[in-house]
Amino acid sequence: MLLLFDIDGTLLIRAAEAHTLALHAAIEEVHGVQAPDAFVPTAGRTDLAIMRSLLLLCGVDAKAIDDGAEATCTAACIAYARLCPPDLSAYVAPGAREALRGLKRLGHVPALVTGNLEPIARLKLRRAGLGDWFAAGPGGFGGDDEDRAALPGLARARAGEGTPVPRAQAVVIGDTPLDIACARADGVRCVGITTGPHPRADLEGADAVIDRLGELEDLLAGWG
Ligand SMILES: [Mg+2]
Repeated sequence: MLLLFDIDGTLLIRAAEAHTLALHAAIEEVHGVQAPDAFVPTAGRTDLAIMRSLLLLCGVDAKAIDDGAEATCTAACIAYARLCPPDLSAYVAPGAREALRGLKRLGHVPALVTGNLEPIARLKLRRAGLGDWFAAGPGGFGGDDEDRAALPGLARARAGEGTPVPRAQAVVIGDTPLDIACARADGVRCVGITTGPHPRADLEGADAVIDRLGELEDLLAGWG
């Protein structure tokens, strides 16, 4: 089974502070605006979508946002490389390492579907000591599409090397209703996990809801 893991709230818990600061630094560098004080939701959203919300609140118009998208992504990745703590291992979700080891041993293929820009995602996981579990190449990332709904299909295509991995052989694992929505948009199954900001009640649209990554192995065994 192709396992499409979200990062923040799923593999890593509360490790996003430097990431938020990097997005703020990027919009300041490219558009010359300070991040607004207003709350901008980030959970489950792509970096492109978060930066668009920030910029719209700052009064930047849509065309300027589109024209600057590539530059803001580049600036965000450079800023994150500067701001990312050298060691994020304390933020690894409980049981994540053991779960990944067990799932891989059973022949499952871990990959990423995350709103993070790919260089940010890769660096974040490397600094957490989880980078080796995720091969370079497959995955869907926040720079691939502003809309998370597009990412599982992309990840299946990339993992299949020519022929997409069949929908029945892929599952999204994430901590927000937007993870569930992106799985639904692609017609793949979804496991919600309660280690992020959303309680079980918010994740009822998933095919299953778990509290720890360690529950995945038994769950997937039941799905055949
Ligand atoms: Mg998340």
